[in-house]
This record gives sequence, C-alpha cells and structure tokens, in this order.
Amino acid sequence: MADQSKIAWTDATWNPVTGCSHVSEGCRNCYAEREWPRLTRLLQAYSGRSFENVACHPERLDQPIRWKHPRKIFVNSMSDLFHPDVPEDFIRAVFAIMAVATWHTFQILTKRPERMMEVLTRWDYEGLVLRSGYGTQLPNIWLGVSVEDQKSAEERIPVLLETPAAVRWVSVEPMIGPVTFRWAKWQSGFKMIEGRLVRNHLDGLRRLDWIVVGGESGQSARPMEAEWVRKIVHECREAKVPLFVKQLGARFSDEKNGIAGASLNIPQEAIDLLGRRLKHRSGSDMEEWPEELKVREYPENLAIEKIS
Ligand code: SF4
Repeated sequence: MADQSKIAWTDATWNPVTGCSHVSEGCRNCYAEREWPRLTRLLQAYSGRSFENVACHPERLDQPIRWKHPRKIFVNSMSDLFHPDVPEDFIRAVFAIMAVATWHTFQILTKRPERMMEVLTRWDYEGLVLRSGYGTQLPNIWLGVSVEDQKSAEERIPVLLETPAAVRWVSVEPMIGPVTFRWAKWQSGFKMIEGRLVRNHLDGLRRLDWIVVGGESGQSARPMEAEWVRKIVHECREAKVPLFVKQLGARFSDEKNGIAGASLNIPQEAIDLLGRRLKHRSGSDMEEWPEELKVREYPENLAIEKIS
C-alpha cells in the first residue's frame, strides 16, 4: 500500500491481493514481479512467498476507509483482482469497501476480463449488488483492461464492453505493437459525413471512457514508436474520448522529430546528427516529449481533485 504513487495517472495504490502469474506478452517484464524480491526482504506480507503464490490480505481491506482525503486509488498494482486464485468472497469484500468509500475513485485493471465479467454480471443478476449496497456500477469504480497490442486489445476490450460498469477504461501499456480502435467488427452502421455515407469505425471507442498509453520501462524494455501513439491521439480526438499518455518508455523512437528513448539501441553519433535522446530513463518527463504527445486528460466525471 502506498499513499503516494509514482504512477502518473493515480494518487495511491492499494494492494489487498499480492502475487500473480503471466497471462500474455504484456506480462513478460511485469513490474510487480520485478519488485517482488525487494519486497520479500522488506515486508512481512511478501516474505517467504514466490510471485506465483497469490495471497489475499484481509488486514489491508480497510486502508482506503482510513484515508480521509479523496484520492484516485489504483487497486492491486501488485496483482490482478480477477486472478483465478482470488476467492470470489474476497473480490466481493473489495467491492464492499469501494462501495462504502465513495469519496475515493477506484481504478481497477485486469488482464482477465472474462472472470471480471462473469463475476460482476452474476452479482447484478442475483440482485446482490443492489440489495447489499455493493455497486459494480458506482461512478467511483472504474473498470479497465490492460492490453499490449492489437491481438490482446481485440480479445479483452469487447469483454469489458459487456461488463456492467459506470466507467470503462483501457490501459495500453506496455505498448509493444500498434493498436487501433478503428475495427471493422465495431462498426455499428453508417452515418452521413459531408453528404457521403461512411462506416462508423470508432463506435466501439466511443463506448470507452478513458484511454491510457505507455511505453515499457526497465532494462529489457521493448520498443514503442511515436507513430503508434500519434494514431491513438488522433482516434481519441476524433471520438472525443479522454486520453492520458503516461510515459514514452525506455526504447521510444520518433523518426519524425528525431527523438530516441534513453535506452534505444542506436549509435550516439546518429543521435547527435539527427536529434536528441530523452534523459528520463522511462521517458516519463513530459517536458522532453514532442508537443503532440503531451496529452493528459481524465474522464469528465472525475469528482475528485488531485492531492497536492
Ligand atoms: S497480469 Fe499484471 S500483475 Fe499479473 S503477471 Fe501480468 S502484468 Fe504482472
């Protein structure tokens, strides 16, 4: 648990579950797994366990209740709430806390949207959510999926769109390949633009409330191209969906502006000749970015102010 987070789009992290296992290529350099050895030496809750040994921490459940100032809280930066080893009763307890702590905004990300949809849809169906006051559609609970490329986007986002939620979001991080939201399968028909009948390719994107994009950090980071991010900026502008560019990553490359990430494998002479290299290791310093990528927006219904 951390009352202040280094993650740019949140204020604090809350980890009622720790430990996880890989799902897809986006997990290859998992931040939580990289941090694990250090945390096992520092904290009792991690000690003596491998990363794959998922544990729930009931003693951490009331942490957000004790935080009196409103915060954006990233739920489970060290795990995935919908991992198969997390009992449904515990997921329910996490939702109960979020439903009570209405002064906070809870940001959930999963790479296992099938279980999220299955559990939350059933709760709604059973009426349990409403009867008990535990809401899955409360405006302070943002449900999101984490994707890394087009394949994972096309697998996970449609499932998110079928899941009951007040706010749906997608984190494209680590972005290891181009991602477009302009999918043929999302077409919901045609519309007239300047007298011409055109397909409405961005209808799926319009059903999302927030997009986050980020390049990979760390020694084994994979490259991210500026053009991939520009395309998402363009699509979000067109669909009027808020976008948050979190970081450009260690191996960012921008041919147009002659910018290379701190660890991009390119000779220094070429950099000196053509442009510049980002100083920040993970490309998180916005001051160094090309102007068109300096986009940091939040969903409109964000009811809280960022803590100072
Ligand atoms: S799902 Fe998330 S926390 Fe779990 S291994 Fe993958 S990247 Fe790490």
